[in-house]
Amino acid sequence: MLNRLLELADTIAIGGHVRPDGDCIGSGLGLRQYIKDNYKDKEVEVYLEEIPEKYRFLEGTETVRHEIPEGKIYDLFICLDCADLERLGFSAPLFENAKNTLCIDHHVSNPGFAKENHIVPDASSTSELVYELINRECVSKEVAEALYTGILHDTGVFQYSCTAPSTLRAAAELLEAGVDAPKIIRDTFYEKTYAQHQVLGRALLESILFLDGRCIASYIREREMRFFGVDRSDLDGIASQLRNTKGVEVAIFMDEIRPNVYKVSLRSGDIVDVSVIARYFGGGGHKKAAGFTLTGTPYDVINNLSKQIELQLEK
Ligand code: 5GP
Ligand code: MN
Repeated sequence: MLNRLLELADTIAIGGHVRPDGDCIGSGLGLRQYIKDNYKDKEVEVYLEEIPEKYRFLEGTETVRHEIPEGKIYDLFICLDCADLERLGFSAPLFENAKNTLCIDHHVSNPGFAKENHIVPDASSTSELVYELINRECVSKEVAEALYTGILHDTGVFQYSCTAPSTLRAAAELLEAGVDAPKIIRDTFYEKTYAQHQVLGRALLESILFLDGRCIASYIREREMRFFGVDRSDLDGIASQLRNTKGVEVAIFMDEIRPNVYKVSLRSGDIVDVSVIARYFGGGGHKKAAGFTLTGTPYDVINNLSKQIELQLEK
């Protein structure tokens, strides 16, 4: 299906969600490199917001575009790891104007908003989906590194329950293409800057338990981020670390994006489906990892959320 659509297009744009994560970046750069390697006459560009430093070793990060050219109409726009048009951000006009559109994604909340859709909610990652769609004999080391990085991040280093036998088979085949897995795991997943670790420590120290210790919440204000010299991209992993607390089913981590406006990250164990809660508040995501934006104090957010969490815990 993917190869057929690629053959029909001379010009291809690839986009993904705002604040791109490892899966979004890995699937985008991997697919772009695959097209460059195997369809040498095609024009292909990736449109994503700023790429965090730790992913810049991937082939082609320096040519990722952060603005759209005026009046450009692509034959095909491929939307990756993005559940709705709004989350596509600045590249949405390119999607809307493209002659054909394809969406490859694993978010349950994705309604299939492109002309062609490949949505598999149970899949570990968009990067695994891309790997399944491309021609395996034509995967270069650069493509493998990008897709491996994407799978790694959306599975929490093959830890989360979305890791299927097919995920590990894909990862094994990507290793065979020459990926230096220990280096990528260390450099992109576990290694943190000193400031990032300090912020994590602060979030853990200030966290509160509620609903009989089954929920944990913490937050960080804009002024605290300034104090530590960090920005929002430095907060990755805090919500998951909170969720690792013994007895906790749901973790809530909030970071202030504007005065009294919080980006809320939710993580859950085996019971609560946080995608349902995030959707209730206008966001989205997966069963065990979801998010949304809410106005109010952190305590307003916690109050609003605990009602929704209790509804599911009582079932
Ligand atoms: P995170 O907590 O790491 O920011 O996001 C966890 C998951 O929830 C990701 O899969 C992400 O795509 C989704 N998500 C986070 N925030 C939002 C949001 O505001 N809207 C939607 N639709 N999805 C979100
Ligand atoms: Mn993903």
